[in-house]
Amino acid sequence: MSYDISTYAWRCECGGLFDLRKSDVGRGIFRDANDWSLWRYDFLSPYTSSASLGAAITLGEGMTPIIKESVGSVLKLDYLMPTLSFKDRGSTVLVSHAKAINVHRAAADSSGNAGVSLAAYCAVAGIELDIFLPEGTTKRKIKQLDAFGAKVHVIQGDRSAASEAAIDHVESHKIFYASHIYNPLIFNGTKTYLYELFEQLGGRLCENIFIPLGNGTLLLGVSLGLRELRSLGLIDSSPRIIAVQASECSPIAKKWREESLTQSSSYLCGESAGSSIASGIAIHTYQVS
Ligand SMILES: *Cc1c(COP(=O)(O)O)cnc(C)c1O
Repeated sequence: MSYDISTYAWRCECGGLFDLRKSDVGRGIFRDANDWSLWRYDFLSPYTSSASLGAAITLGEGMTPIIKESVGSVLKLDYLMPTLSFKDRGSTVLVSHAKAINVHRAAADSSGNAGVSLAAYCAVAGIELDIFLPEGTTKRKIKQLDAFGAKVHVIQGDRSAASEAAIDHVESHKIFYASHIYNPLIFNGTKTYLYELFEQLGGRLCENIFIPLGNGTLLLGVSLGLRELRSLGLIDSSPRIIAVQASECSPIAKKWREESLTQSSSYLCGESAGSSIASGIAIHTYQVS
């Protein structure tokens, strides 16, 4: 089934997830090499004949530095993003799209960096954002969301309850669901992480790339970026991608080891899992405070 890009539907009525239809291979890597944000890349062009994006809603995200940690290894400092996480890569694309299709009100659910990032970009775009959080979300996070003008709803129950409340709200008010998990534009933003690395390393990539894995938005973006660099003929082989999960919450790593990963399952930790200092990648079915 296919939908117009301006749809407010957040997944196919057949139950599946959306993917963007590719119209052609991109023209090359740069759109404007003098733009020092991630918008320097022509990263949406394979999709733009349908994805008519308007003027970008940008806070100067992207082009984060890399530092050499030891011989042959580099760290990419995505915490230097406008709202302090790589989530801004996805938010700039998703919110630019929302603005282009005339969204005035949106809703999202998050207990972490994604919500804060969306709230900042929606504030710039003049889009009213309702955000749904599970109880137990830290006061600091709520203050940050308040500061960006988002309307915060704390929902009794776990992360999934917050998600259900957001979807109910979206469907009953017929507003836009700014989901960082379901909307495929997000991966088209996160893939610029790889484009930057390729450019910063002088037109090549490392042998191994370590990516944190929670819901997988960075991992999926990086895999998409790799496929695109290959189809543009810019790399001939792909680096090894090593996804990293928190030891206290690693459902995908476990299934990988058992060789029983399947596409249709959802992989979250149950309540028995421990809490982790790496809370950004520990995706529990309940909220860890
Ligand atoms: C969101 C986030 C992650 C996990 O990303 P996923 O897209 O959920 O896999 C890891 N680290 C930080 C700092 C994050 O904000």
